[in-house]
Amino acid sequence: MPRSVKPWSGRTDDTPAPPRVRLRVFEREQGRCHSCARLIRAGEKWTLEHRVALVNSGRNAEDNLCLTCCNCLPDKNAADVAEKSSIYAKRKKHILPKASKRPWPSRPMRQDWKPNVRQLRDD
Ligand SMILES: [Zn+2]
Repeated sequence: MPRSVKPWSGRTDDTPAPPRVRLRVFEREQGRCHSCARLIRAGEKWTLEHRVALVNSGRNAEDNLCLTCCNCLPDKNAADVAEKSSIYAKRKKHILPKASKRPWPSRPMRQDWKPNVRQLRDD
């Protein structure tokens, strides 16, 4: 029985996963791309990606890492940016008040504020 290993967690979001973690993730995922589930062949380029992207509040930890083949990487990056943009738009809508396009409602002019010039002349 293999001894259990404490799961890796990056000190910062920029900390790259060491080779031993890359190997563990590769074995855990059984060499399959997370997006297309294709088996990654020997010598083929692949990257370690975050399931939940860091930009979308994902953690830089071993349980959030997965394999992505080079064919799926641009699509995954585009999907992550689209998700980030969608979340940003929702946050903006909920936090910032929407500027009204209508002008301020005008008040009817009060006639009693104007002195009646004819009455003043007659007096
Ligand atoms: Zn793929």
